[in-house]
Amino acid sequence: MLDKVRSHITHWANTTLSYAGKVALINSVIFGIHNFWGASVLLPKGIVKKIHKMCKDFLWGIEDGQRRMVFKSWESLCRPRKEGGVDIKEILSCNKEQMMGWIKKIETDAPNIWVKWVNAYILKSVSFWNFQITTVHSWFWGNIITCRDNLVLYTGGIQQAKQLLLTPEYKSLIYECLRSKGPVQSYHRTLGEPLNIPKHSFIGLLAAENRLPTVDNLCQRGMVLVNRCVLCESAAETAAHLFFECPYSAEVWFQVSRWMQVPIQASLSQTLRWYKLHNRGSALVKRQRRCLLLCAIYLLWKERNRRIFKGLSSTPAALIWQI
Ligand SMILES: [Zn+2]
Repeated sequence: MLDKVRSHITHWANTTLSYAGKVALINSVIFGIHNFWGASVLLPKGIVKKIHKMCKDFLWGIEDGQRRMVFKSWESLCRPRKEGGVDIKEILSCNKEQMMGWIKKIETDAPNIWVKWVNAYILKSVSFWNFQITTVHSWFWGNIITCRDNLVLYTGGIQQAKQLLLTPEYKSLIYECLRSKGPVQSYHRTLGEPLNIPKHSFIGLLAAENRLPTVDNLCQRGMVLVNRCVLCESAAETAAHLFFECPYSAEVWFQVSRWMQVPIQASLSQTLRWYKLHNRGSALVKRQRRCLLLCAIYLLWKERNRRIFKGLSSTPAALIWQI
């Protein structure tokens, strides 16, 4: 029954939602898990693994019982946009972050009946920071002591842990300490522009990292044997060719470059570099340029997919009109 419901939801998501839409839905579900379960118990690793699998299946889609092609690792998607991710919250780190709320209540002696009970019947006269767990204590209490030990380990000592708990933003600081980290990406301002349409940013991110399923990428995995660009039908399809070298794309860029008043670049990496170093003008103009760039990349990718999967095609002039 559960599998049937899951397959209906996956089918609905695949036919109606973009990747960016699915990411928003995943974040909303994970937020609910954190607010309810994550603040009450330390989730077992097996459960976290199962939630991750369900989220990944939902995001990339399922076909004949198998997950479709994965374009980007889950770990990298969970990083902030600055580090090339899409800001999905890491379940395990968020769970630990939420559990720290209990430790803060004990440490600050919050006016709470649970804290009074802990002091009277569990800790008695022993300091919370030196308390040792035994077999008579509950699973929940064991979770709190595990989080306490993690906190001391990450902050470097009991005094540092106590100081951290006294800061108002202690939860976000703890999450920052626990989450996996990656290098800051040079293109993050262009892709993270708030005016961008989210689905444009998502495809732009995959294009910038050469993770889109272009024919050359599929050939490397042995999934396709013939490599031919569907836009010009005269060269092999690579990300570099599809987005910039192809005569079809060049015609689109010629017009877009005139509007944006930017020189035409030879590749996506050069274009992103140009935006980082030379994007001059008023704040609005700079933001509009970023939007137009991402919009053009998204529509070129969409045009390529329409030709392959629907047998429909548009002229460069029609694409420019859409942009
Ligand atoms: Zn081409």
